[in-house]
Amino acid sequence: MPAVFWFRRDLRLEDNRALLEALKSNTQVYPIFIFDPGILNQLDQPNDRRVQYIYQQLQNIQKQLQKFKAHLNVFYGAPENIIKSCCKNWKVQAVFANHDYEPYARKRDAGIADLLKPLGIAFNTFKDQCIFEKNEILKSDGSPYTVFTPYSRTWHKTLQSQHYTPFDSSPYWNRLAPGNSTWPSLEDMGFKPALKPVHTAELPSAQLLAQYAHQRDIPSVKGTSRLSMALRFGTVSIRAALRQALPYSQAWVNELIWRDFYMMILWHFPHVTEGAFKPAYNFIPWRTDEAAFERWCRGETGFPIVDAGMRELNTTGFMHNRVRMIVSSFLVKDLLIDWRWGEAYFAKTLNDFDLSANNGGWQWAAGTGCDAAPYFRVFNPDSQQKKFDPQGLYVRQWISELGTSRYPKPMVDHAAARIRAVETYRNALAGFRQLNLGF
Ligand code: FAD
Repeated sequence: MPAVFWFRRDLRLEDNRALLEALKSNTQVYPIFIFDPGILNQLDQPNDRRVQYIYQQLQNIQKQLQKFKAHLNVFYGAPENIIKSCCKNWKVQAVFANHDYEPYARKRDAGIADLLKPLGIAFNTFKDQCIFEKNEILKSDGSPYTVFTPYSRTWHKTLQSQHYTPFDSSPYWNRLAPGNSTWPSLEDMGFKPALKPVHTAELPSAQLLAQYAHQRDIPSVKGTSRLSMALRFGTVSIRAALRQALPYSQAWVNELIWRDFYMMILWHFPHVTEGAFKPAYNFIPWRTDEAAFERWCRGETGFPIVDAGMRELNTTGFMHNRVRMIVSSFLVKDLLIDWRWGEAYFAKTLNDFDLSANNGGWQWAAGTGCDAAPYFRVFNPDSQQKKFDPQGLYVRQWISELGTSRYPKPMVDHAAARIRAVETYRNALAGFRQLNLGF
């Protein structure tokens, strides 16, 4: 029987759970991808690297498919309309896809399921993009964890080899349907083609993983995997990443657990996309200083480690994790600007932007999150630079005018800004407590 397999955040043929399920139970499977204007219209850059990367990966998949005369169908339009017409044209009995935990995707998928049900077409979805999802790791009372360390302990206890065994569908690839539909071009959708291919990361080497725990905090060194974009779009499977990590680096496994953790938090607590995980922190009177925010965005704060990070982001779409922690803390604490402004800027510029990890990272920095830095811990950008970039290799790489009169003076006095932040937080939390006690 014919079925549709819908690629979303899983842009690969290898080790793809829903693809295997579709191929196992159907004689002919039509692979599709939909460029959704509801998502694309929110991106304001014609050369958005993420759209270019998706396009490039689709072309790679198409090349693989051509080897056995199959065809990837790529559409531009509202998913409900496209899915409906695919089902009608190809007379399919079922649509297969992998789970997506973001609020927009959940709503979209619920709508698709409702649409297909009366037509007698099943919408079958599966876990693929994380090791454990939704309710798989819970506290003994059945409630979700909100603190990472106990979550990670249960994660480890639950893990068995079946959780990272690949879903190999290659024996069935001859069931993928042929076709000749034309694709929308990037220009048709308002984007420019990439001038050169977007870098595709591969699994980290055993050597990198063995050094990871020592090098991961040094931004001048390529000591981390740079796999985040590939994991975000599923060009590399999370199970392959875990298989690679287990023998070499528990520290790296831990990062993959953070990824699962934040996806689980987003699933159980979708309110985090609107405001603080802890409601008391919604009462902080943020400064709405747009000029200061712009300086932060451009990397002109006068704090070299902050500016280097923002310039790395603006130039490449990537920023090292240690530096993400420093720049986010600077925006929220030193400038006292709403973490959601920073979150939105990262969402626009990061190649690896992922709603759950980005929101988790920002709420951590702002002290508003489920398992966050306490509000009174304020990173000192100069000490962070001394500790993690002592020879200034990273900052000099990104700030050519460092040490000249063209480099701006620090836009705030850190010691004073620290006191202002701690007092503002303390007062806001005290105000919230009073309100709740009915004073
Ligand atoms: P590695 O150190 O090699 O880690 C391996 C993988 O583990 C990463 O590729 C990523 O998938 C995952 N991972 C690592 N750290 C985290 C973490 N703290 N939370 C969740 N997953 C993690 N990561 C994103 O993937 N997308 C984001 O939008 C994002 N926004 C962030 C915003 C802030 C303010 C902060 C502090 C962190 C953010 N992170 C985000 C987490 C982290 O910075 C990146 O995952 C990491 O820098 C990517 O580089 P890497 O692939 O070399 O990581």
